[in-house]
Amino acid sequence: MKELAGDLARTLRARSLYQGARRVRRAAGGEAPGGLPGDLEALGKEASGCTACRLCEGRTTVVFGEGNASAEVLFVGEAPGHHEDQQGRPFVGRAGQLLTQMIVAMGYRREEVYIANVLKCRPPNNRDPAPDEVERCLPYLLRQIELIRPKVVCALGRHALRALTGYAGALSRVRGRPMAFLGTTVMPTFHPAYLLRNPAAKRDAWEDLKQVLRILGRPVPRRKNR
Ligand code: URA
Repeated sequence: MKELAGDLARTLRARSLYQGARRVRRAAGGEAPGGLPGDLEALGKEASGCTACRLCEGRTTVVFGEGNASAEVLFVGEAPGHHEDQQGRPFVGRAGQLLTQMIVAMGYRREEVYIANVLKCRPPNNRDPAPDEVERCLPYLLRQIELIRPKVVCALGRHALRALTGYAGALSRVRGRPMAFLGTTVMPTFHPAYLLRNPAAKRDAWEDLKQVLRILGRPVPRRKNR
């Protein structure tokens, strides 16, 4: 019963975030009739010119996301860092290399999944996303989820989890526990940058990824010692 209430609250929150953000965009004259674009490519094009928050001033490139447009798993990080901002691609730095290893360990190629962030532009000095930036940017991510329709959204770290579900507690309390959200399942796990700083947590992260594979009904590959 408690879980059902949580699922309902998250769905209502997602809907109200989405509608609220659409109202902001419409008031600013930034929304075409019918809402956000109907396909990923058009949405990416729209995002590439976004000026909805201050981060547009310092960015080199908008990092919209990349991967399979009908992926069954979507990985969501926090925001682009220096390398991502330069290259216009998500997770291409050290944390990105680890994320790619995690994806491969699950039995996928990187191109078979989709990778995106809560924020599409780099915050200065890699600071945490500000609440108003998340509010302005989240409609892109929610629309990506609607268009891709992944079976599982892997929330990498507390910022992704908070933006998606509103959960603001410790990630370690809920990691590995699937949450229903927007018609899909959110799986909270550690951010690869955290895993680089805390390699001992890789074992737990692998347990979370195995959970994802079980939800998807995919075989769980044996993990080589690393
Ligand atoms: N960290 C993130 O959260 N996203 C990236 O794209 C790179 C590092």
